[in-house]
Amino acid sequence: MGQPVASWLAGYDPKDLTIATAVSHSSLQIFHGAKLEGFKTLAIAAGDRDVRYYDAFPKAKPDRILKLNRYHDLLGMAEELREENVILIPHGSLVEYLGPDNYVNIGLPIYGNRNVLHWESDRDAQRTWLEAAGIRMPRKISDPQDINEPAIVKYHGAKGGRGFFIAKSYRDFKRHIQEGEPYTIQEFVLGTRYYLHYFHSPLVKEGYQVELKDAAGKVVATSTLQMLSIDRRDESNIDEMNRLGSLKDMDEIGIPPTFVVTGNIPMVIRESLLPEVFRMGEQVVKEAHKLFGGLWGPFCLETVVTDKLEFRVFEISARIVAGTNPFVGGSPYSEMIAPGLSTGRRIAQEIKLAAQTGQLAKILT
Ligand code: AMP
Repeated sequence: MGQPVASWLAGYDPKDLTIATAVSHSSLQIFHGAKLEGFKTLAIAAGDRDVRYYDAFPKAKPDRILKLNRYHDLLGMAEELREENVILIPHGSLVEYLGPDNYVNIGLPIYGNRNVLHWESDRDAQRTWLEAAGIRMPRKISDPQDINEPAIVKYHGAKGGRGFFIAKSYRDFKRHIQEGEPYTIQEFVLGTRYYLHYFHSPLVKEGYQVELKDAAGKVVATSTLQMLSIDRRDESNIDEMNRLGSLKDMDEIGIPPTFVVTGNIPMVIRESLLPEVFRMGEQVVKEAHKLFGGLWGPFCLETVVTDKLEFRVFEISARIVAGTNPFVGGSPYSEMIAPGLSTGRRIAQEIKLAAQTGQLAKILT
């Protein structure tokens, strides 16, 4: 069921908006950007979460911190928060804390298309979307008995790579699999990882232009695609395993590689790969437009580049990713768009532009 966003927005004062998000993930960057663009800011914290770290970063410290017993309590407060003209900026942790059903049904305007969650959270739906967009993904292995080359086993809904494992054979698979947990298996793609941070704007009409078409192939809108930064995730323990020897040595002493994200490293990519970076981003937003009404704002393609200089995309995140955090003061790419442009600040700029031009209903759902 769609939310009556237009009627909520009718009561909003576009000159007095509050940017809100849950503490953690990329909240410092979101608040920092929102403050630079002149917005009020509100952090949402639940349970006994320690929020004192905000005191250490005055330029990102939210104006107000709303403390709740549980994130679920936010649902009952929507009307009160709408009085403050609150706009919710989703990030991965916010969606996780609220749970997908509460998130989709929350009575606050959300920046971005809240319906994308269905396409993003189900790995099969994600594959349908990306492959229809002409994106090459790692091969899916439907039957574990067919594992005869390195494969990665991913549990559904696992956050930050937790519990994933590598299997080189069916025997390996049986040794590690947790019974009863739904999973998917992909070919393990060897290469170098790049996490590409895009920003898609239906409002701005200059820069890298994208033509959005309807199902009949008619151009119905033009938009602008940006690529603001690139990171590589630092994953424990796989990214430092070589400190103790080879993967095989580790296996022998019973230490399996794990993929738990602990931080992020700034990256740039070979310039000759940029045309493909933009082609992939463009195809993804075009297909999203056809399939479910569009993907706008920040999104990330998580990729491996092989030694044939080919991309494989193993996942899409349809909102701001924590990999944008190294770029609070701008990135080697965003510096060529505007000085000091982080993804958090870009979000605030987009909301400001929409508020000034009466287009909030176009970017909030
Ligand atoms: P994901 O939850 O899909 O983002 O995967 C977590 C981590 O596992 C990634 O950041 C990569 O390091 C690794 N990974 C995921 N899929 C693949 C793949 N098909 N080939 C190689 N590494 C992968």
